Amino acid sequence: MKKVFCIGELLIDFVAEKQGSNLSKANTFTKKAGGAPANVACAIAKLGGRGIFVGCVGDDPFGDFLLNTLKNESVDISLAQRSKTFTTLAFVSLAEDGERDFVFSRGADRELEYQVALRKDFNGNLLHLGAATALLGGPLEKAYGKYLFDALTKEMFISFDPNFRKDLWKENELQFVKKCMPFIEKSHLCKFSLEEAQLLSGKEDMHEACDFLHDVGAKIITVTLGKKGTLLSTNNIREIVPSIKVKPIDTTGAGDAFIGCLLQQISGLDNFDNIFNNDKLLLKMVAKANMAGAITTTNYGAIVALPNKSQLQD
Ligand code: ATP
Repeated sequence: MKKVFCIGELLIDFVAEKQGSNLSKANTFTKKAGGAPANVACAIAKLGGRGIFVGCVGDDPFGDFLLNTLKNESVDISLAQRSKTFTTLAFVSLAEDGERDFVFSRGADRELEYQVALRKDFNGNLLHLGAATALLGGPLEKAYGKYLFDALTKEMFISFDPNFRKDLWKENELQFVKKCMPFIEKSHLCKFSLEEAQLLSGKEDMHEACDFLHDVGAKIITVTLGKKGTLLSTNNIREIVPSIKVKPIDTTGAGDAFIGCLLQQISGLDNFDNIFNNDKLLLKMVAKANMAGAITTTNYGAIVALPNKSQLQD
């Protein structure tokens, strides 16, 4: 089983308990561990893979809580860093009109320092870049570029999820698109939601969007489509792999469960070339990852709801 290095943010989501009002009126909040790359590391570890989290939290009680949460899920946190800056915090509420009210207080996640020593461990392993906050600047963004370069020279399997958050980019969507391009160009696997594929390609039509993103360089593209399943697109195939029928109660983390499960399966291959030459295998893997996504929607929260090995087998 190869290692999967998941690089990016780990933060506290304070979710307003009484939804339907904006943050100015919310009084009570529930503290939850958040951050897409950290969720992916958990998804991998819960399925028996070697998920390694590389990110930075504050040297404060919130940082302790976050790292303990990952440790309890058997994620390797030995490469996580602590900073004097406070742990990154996000406050979220759904207002009456269904719009998200969001306050983001960016702290320690941006402080992740690149470590050249990691290179020696990269050889032939997997790198997952889940960019939600990483492209917003700071040492973390610099580290992203350098780790991408290292991954290319160390023949890693590279996975990229742009994790576009409208709240974070507001008037700067074009800048986000521009910053994602080098990662799409160099990645073996890109995971997009439909909205992301459309934004990054400038094409409304899902197939035209995939054509564009393949032209940029993405080799394997997955476009997650909620209950409809996932569009899988490579040089050889393009088809929607259906999901399973479930009764969803909270879709948070479904995308992270999907990509985590896919990467966990790829990390078990002796040779990455096997998935580029074997469409059947890739389709099977995506079908299994769809199940992981679907199961996650049947429980509240992200990390808690991610399936473990036996749940997925059942
Ligand atoms: P996120 O909001 O967590 O970033 P996403 O938008 O990337 O997620 P989704 O499309 O919501 O991801 O879900 C990922 C995968 O999980 C889907 O491709 C699908 O296979 C499965 N899935 C999600 N919702 C459902 C559902 N309601 N029923 C069945 N399967 C689902």
